[in-house]
Amino acid sequence: MQPSGTLRRIVAIAFLAVSGVVAAFATIAPNNQAAALPPTMVIVEALTLQAREIPATGQYVQEEQFQRGDTLGGFLGRLGIEESAIPRLVRAPALRALRPGSNVRADLGADGSPRALSFLTGRDTLVKIVPEGERFRAIEEQAAFETRVTMKASVIRSSLFAATDEVGIPDSVAMQLADVFGGDIDFHRDLRKGDRFTVVYEQHHLGGRPVRAGRLLAAEFVNQGRTLRAVHYGSGYYAPDGKNLRKAFLRSPLEFSRVSSGFGMRRHPIQSSWRSHKGVDYAAPMGTRVRAVGDAVVEFAGAKGGYGNVVILRHNGRYSTVYAHLSRIAVRRGARIAQTDTVGYVGQTGWATGAHLHYEFRVAGEARNPLSIALPAAQPLPQQQLTAFGAQAEPLVARLDLLANANLALLD
Ligand SMILES: [Zn+2]
Repeated sequence: MQPSGTLRRIVAIAFLAVSGVVAAFATIAPNNQAAALPPTMVIVEALTLQAREIPATGQYVQEEQFQRGDTLGGFLGRLGIEESAIPRLVRAPALRALRPGSNVRADLGADGSPRALSFLTGRDTLVKIVPEGERFRAIEEQAAFETRVTMKASVIRSSLFAATDEVGIPDSVAMQLADVFGGDIDFHRDLRKGDRFTVVYEQHHLGGRPVRAGRLLAAEFVNQGRTLRAVHYGSGYYAPDGKNLRKAFLRSPLEFSRVSSGFGMRRHPIQSSWRSHKGVDYAAPMGTRVRAVGDAVVEFAGAKGGYGNVVILRHNGRYSTVYAHLSRIAVRRGARIAQTDTVGYVGQTGWATGAHLHYEFRVAGEARNPLSIALPAAQPLPQQQLTAFGAQAEPLVARLDLLANANLALLD
């Protein structure tokens, strides 16, 4: 691994040199005057790697993030664009592609006149708006990402997101991690202090800066002493031995999110045991999305006594699931729905003392404890794909081994 890492660095440096970003860090030739004046250096935060992007003297670059609640006019003002240009720019249709969170770079003349505005869209294209006479013209091109494989590891102390934040793992990777192991781990109830995980994922860079995370390539999760591993292959995730990690049923009916994730590790506010009421209660904020744990047909959707607003799903075989106390129902009776489809939202209708989801898992009409039942698994990889899978999995598993050993050394 060492040689390829070194090689990649050399390639990256060579690439930067060719594309001209290095030239943007202008050096000043020593002379008598320079000794008397404080040193000045123009540092250009390059968004693209084109040599022609480097502003000439008398220009400057400003970068701002478009935020929720920003008006276009106010935002352009914050970018330092001079007032008379703003009303004309606001009319540029390309600016409608701006979303909260977008970073916008403005190349400005010394007087604040816009020379170019550029930003990355959600479609991974780079939009560049340039003046043309009294109006503005937009150019849109595919962003040339450089993708690097990133590895990170962390330990659960309070919640999954606290652990990912601690080491700078992007939210989208945390969500993929919860998804991939969603058939084995109920991320709302099963996490324990001291659980640890490792992720190997794609990080897209533009102009040398990280802009967005891509796919989770491999992961390890040690949950209550049990080690689970996943490797991305084709359109799914498999254990290193080829077992499918997707299950016929998800462990948790609650959508895992930054908002709902903290609830599982807190003391449970509803003390009823499974034995006394044949279900599991999930405390969660009002309005949290409730997902179908498996492919199903909607058997019932409506109000029903103490259950309040309830959805009952019939799955393959003898399985059915119940989702009660919903604030709102999102499906109709008789509808065919898929695993992870929204059935409704957490509420406190019926006999409920606070916002929570009452969830039941039934086998042949009989309520069973979903936390202890063995659930049917999805198909493993077919025999003829195992060789190709092994070749792809091997280097990723080696990275997991490397980090797992490093982690153990740290914990010792
Ligand atoms: Zn309950």
